[in-house]
Amino acid sequence: MSFFRPEILAMDGYTPGEQPQAGKFIKLNTNENPYPPPAGIRRAIEEVLDRGLQRYPDPMGNAFRARAAELYKLPGKEWVLCGNGSDDLLTICTRAFVGAGELLRLPYPSYILYRSLAQIQGAKWQEVRFNDDWTLPAAFGDPAEGLKLVFLPNPNSPTGTMVSREAILELADRLPCPLLVDEAYGDFAEFNAIDLIQQNEKIMVSRTLSKAYGLAGLRFGFLLAQPQMIEQLIKVKDSYNCDAFAIAAATAAIHDEAWQADNRRKIVATRGRLVAGLEKLGFVVIPSQANFVWCDHPTRPARPLYEALKAQKVLIRYMNYPGWKDGLRISVGTDEQTDVLLSLLGSLV
Ligand SMILES: *Cc1c(COP(=O)(O)O)cnc(C)c1O
Repeated sequence: MSFFRPEILAMDGYTPGEQPQAGKFIKLNTNENPYPPPAGIRRAIEEVLDRGLQRYPDPMGNAFRARAAELYKLPGKEWVLCGNGSDDLLTICTRAFVGAGELLRLPYPSYILYRSLAQIQGAKWQEVRFNDDWTLPAAFGDPAEGLKLVFLPNPNSPTGTMVSREAILELADRLPCPLLVDEAYGDFAEFNAIDLIQQNEKIMVSRTLSKAYGLAGLRFGFLLAQPQMIEQLIKVKDSYNCDAFAIAAATAAIHDEAWQADNRRKIVATRGRLVAGLEKLGFVVIPSQANFVWCDHPTRPARPLYEALKAQKVLIRYMNYPGWKDGLRISVGTDEQTDVLLSLLGSLV
């Protein structure tokens, strides 16, 4: 006899990438930014401390919403919803749109968390395989019985590949439900879907400060969508889902457009260096628009490579996608970290 809902007992639970809390690792396994965040966040956090923490934070994070609307050229803050990391927004959307027994769709291979969200909700999920060229088959946009929400990571994880803006518009036209474009890596990509939310209320875009702003430890993400969508989602979120430090630091961070542009330039340049180095060692690398790459080697199995690197204090991600393949997902670090990784790999292959 168990106290838990059968859905909970039946699920494995999502396992995030390893976060060693001790030991000096070169950490290239969870797509964090290797550079320190914009300097302005220190001041913002100190101001919160000076004001004191006796009071609850602004439940909506309006300072951030106003700045984000300005930055992304949206009509107003009503188009923005703050979250405790973008995972919080994915949870809010799953809870708001998908009832028990209803259907959530996601591409395969993609972000494993989506499946866990469906499981917790007691919902069904349907994985649709990407085509070999990383476009989506027409079936991804087909209506289906009980279909209530579609997740599309763009750039995709673990591949770093992208679906075009035209494809997103067409999907939204054909689907009977919202299409959440998860742009956790959107800041590193050549294009994004943010302006498309104004064309179709079904298109929603989620973003995070974890990857592109070097703030994974802060926990802050946001969702961009039409105001009538945001208005309903507000009912589902925790009243104070973002703390005062997170709201203040996130607002300061997105003010620093120069930091963002410089960081993006560095990451994209090092990504090129990483890809060239891997290919020189015989790895097959999928062209990526994110701050990581997926690769495998025609003759060297992936898992022992991961283990050998870990033994030498370099952490990358070994992933196995049944029905597709296993391989390595490697985050883009600094040039120095990348060179250490490549030289170790050179002695292993
Ligand atoms: C990292 C990641 C997220 C979640 O980021 P948060 O740290 O919760 O903001 C969401 N989607 C994808 C595809 C990711 O890789």
